[in-house]
Amino acid sequence: MQSDTMAVHAGFEALSETPRPLTPPIYQSSVFVFDDLARAADVTGGASPGYSYARIGHPNADMLSAAVAALEGAGAGATAASGMGAILAALLAARGEGGIAIAREIYGGSVALARSFLSPLGVECSFFDSHDPQSIPEGAGAVLVESCSNPLGRLSDVAALADAAHRRGARLVVDNTFATPYLVRPLEHGADLVVHSATKFLSGHGDVILGALAGSEELVAAAQSSLTTFGATPDPFAAWLALRGLRTFGVRMERAVENAAQIAKHLASHPKVRKVHHASLGTHPDRALAERYFAGRGPAILAFDLADEAQAEKFVSRLAWIRYAPSLGDVATILLHPATTSHRQLSAQELAELGITPGTVRLSVGIEAAQDLLAEIDRGLAG
Ligand SMILES: *Cc1c(COP(=O)(O)O)cnc(C)c1O
Repeated sequence: MQSDTMAVHAGFEALSETPRPLTPPIYQSSVFVFDDLARAADVTGGASPGYSYARIGHPNADMLSAAVAALEGAGAGATAASGMGAILAALLAARGEGGIAIAREIYGGSVALARSFLSPLGVECSFFDSHDPQSIPEGAGAVLVESCSNPLGRLSDVAALADAAHRRGARLVVDNTFATPYLVRPLEHGADLVVHSATKFLSGHGDVILGALAGSEELVAAAQSSLTTFGATPDPFAAWLALRGLRTFGVRMERAVENAAQIAKHLASHPKVRKVHHASLGTHPDRALAERYFAGRGPAILAFDLADEAQAEKFVSRLAWIRYAPSLGDVATILLHPATTSHRQLSAQELAELGITPGTVRLSVGIEAAQDLLAEIDRGLAG
């Protein structure tokens, strides 16, 4: 079954009672009742499936978890209160007794998780170059990379990273937030766990903070146990909103990916644009990886370099309806300026090493009509 079809139907079977509405209800209850002692003992002891207290589980979380597992081709899935909660639970489940090795080019929240949270707790954290799988350090139990990086859309060779991690006795965790299972399913290439900020493309409407993870039953159960224990499980309404958003995942991604490729092509020949970072273009350093992992396509995110920060400022101020919003994966096209927001903690030299300039602008491309997007971008670049 294609991912578009799964996105529309997956998770439905998790609802077993009658009557069964086509659209799931919101189980907005913190607790579930039992008719007798035996049933209460069975459910709380894990002898039979069911719900007791909503931090431990509820139907809206289970429906979303089942849908994410189906989309990622996983044996099991879990839902978290945020992407960060999902990443922490995945790393704790994957590391065993070992340390954590994190790709240098990664979401700022993941860097903060390692430096300010896991390291002080005594978990050994190190950083490595994800474009050189052999640089994964020995002693790591879990390795965290992104299938597609922020903001320049660098791609990971997931199979090579999984192989190098496994040779060192480590498990590979892939943050698939940017690429999504529409473009790549990392578990099929050897990853052990996939994590998502479901806040972004999976839910797609900028109205929830939510996370998800998927992988083998054993690893997901370990991650779920952490989520339940440290209380990073999702609210029923948030899980319901995310599943509702996920129903249109296939058509949203198809349009956004196509729009991004058209914008990339348009910008590549614009005299004011110094460089376009998008894997659909022959000039992108990971064009070969895009062929291998993304069926030749690029993600729904792209970045481009204007001459300097003043030019980026002018671009933003001239736009009529593409808004500056520091997130991504929404139905609306939104933008941000990495050097002054998402990557502001980096020094000028670190920015230069990653290839982010003061004139770099990142677009998260939405589902608007391509001709309107191109006209809006030309408005921003005019004058
Ligand atoms: C947004 C994001 C996160 C964090 O997710 P939250 O839902 O904000 O907790 C993690 N990884 C990537 C790649 C992201 O874009």
